[in-house]
Amino acid sequence: NPATEQVIAQVAEAGVEDVDVAVRSARKALDGEWGHMKASDRGRLLLKLADLIKRDEEELVMLESLDSGKPVSAIRRQDLPAVIDTLVYYAGMADKINGQVIPARADALTYTVREPVGVVGVIIPWNFPLMIGMWKMAPALACGCTLVVKPAEITPLTALKIGELALEAGFPAGVVNVVPGFGKVAGQALVDHPDVDKVTFTGSPTVGRQILQGAAGNLKRVTLELGGKSANIIFPDADIDAAVKAAGSGIFFNTGQVCSAGSRILAHADIYDEVVERLAARAKSMRIGDPLETSTSMGPLVSEVQMNRVLSYIDIGRGEGARVVTGGARATDKGYYVQPTVFAGVEHEMRVSQEEIFGPVATVIKFKDDDDALRIANGTVYSLAAGVWSADIARVHRFARQLKAGTVWINTYGPTDIRLPWGGARDSGFGREHGDMAIENFTEPKVVWINTGR
Ligand code: NAP
Ligand code: MG
Repeated sequence: NPATEQVIAQVAEAGVEDVDVAVRSARKALDGEWGHMKASDRGRLLLKLADLIKRDEEELVMLESLDSGKPVSAIRRQDLPAVIDTLVYYAGMADKINGQVIPARADALTYTVREPVGVVGVIIPWNFPLMIGMWKMAPALACGCTLVVKPAEITPLTALKIGELALEAGFPAGVVNVVPGFGKVAGQALVDHPDVDKVTFTGSPTVGRQILQGAAGNLKRVTLELGGKSANIIFPDADIDAAVKAAGSGIFFNTGQVCSAGSRILAHADIYDEVVERLAARAKSMRIGDPLETSTSMGPLVSEVQMNRVLSYIDIGRGEGARVVTGGARATDKGYYVQPTVFAGVEHEMRVSQEEIFGPVATVIKFKDDDDALRIANGTVYSLAAGVWSADIARVHRFARQLKAGTVWINTYGPTDIRLPWGGARDSGFGREHGDMAIENFTEPKVVWINTGR
């Protein structure tokens, strides 16, 4: 428990052999009852799982909070509803995965069907264990795949509970396998396994690259969602109140451990000081504390490693000459809490402005005009998300077109919806999750060509 530094559970560590057993069980399930099930019945199982999650909601909230340090209020408000929405959405899609009749020739009936891609390795990070896990599991199951799920070593509890609930819901044994363990061992074994057809991963670019290399062995299909250093751009003609409020939650929500965190706040020179000052006030007003208290708005970082990583970035920022306006240190002696931190005087080239910190650290960067904002916003290796605040309709459309990002938010920051494609490019990875694009990730098209003669 990162809030107390206490051990809350002992979890078995899957080794290479365990992963192999899980993959074989997933392969077998693919050829059994599951493989012959009506698509609408797969949808019904997903709905049933949603009902069981609703029934056990409070247990899941507690597990997720104790394991990750996320405030219960946020899990209740955001993660759990998103998990259920995801299941209901893909439940409805299970029997709408259509092929096409494509009239290629006069002497043939030619059509396509979409078959499940097969055994899917699902590798989950610790920042949204339940929600990101379900973003991957629900569409894969809707498509008829079977899963081997490797949760992050430090947050395995809710994935194990979901495995239990999947069995209770009636998914045949072997359809959902959960292998808690270390990334280097269990994760790597899954990635290297010759009988895994696809890996879907969310996490760091470093591991993303390792996954691509491992996947080369049997040419697994891969989807990678690898985070970012997203720009949130504020112009003087924006609603500054709303912009600063959203910029605050854009970086401090989930203690900054969000792939699309608005970690670079780009403020126009005319309002720079005002934005810095107001953002600092918002940082100071965050209610840091026990994640189990409903009034808490910010919990600890997920682990000691992550806390030290964030603190070392704060040192790096200071060393580079950026100014800590508020925060900048551990918040408590016990628990991995770091004060919400605002850096001003940040230059675009600094490491704190280029590298993903994954903590409650806002960097505020000054820009002078539209071109300058665009140059800075697009000037990292990432390409996941961006935000623009302005009342100028031509400007926001121009930015929507020119920003390099998988999602551009205009006069808002951060919302996601399972109906909308999610993902990025360059070091943010490739492929899109969510919506019907996820169906492409988990199906393989097949052409059937019937010679009819003429
Ligand atoms: P990470 O190493 O990329 O972990 C993500 C997942 O991959 C975990 O389940 C991890 O398992 C697993 N993994 C690690 N090495 C693996 C390997 N060789 N083969 C297969 N799976 C492997 O991320 P992290 O070290 O926890 O965090 C480091 C940084 O990554 C963060 O500071 C942040 O910048 C970024 N990150 C981004 C996101 C995002 O949403 N895009 C999420 C988390 C982290 P173990 O945890 O058991 O090692
Ligand atoms: Mg790691």
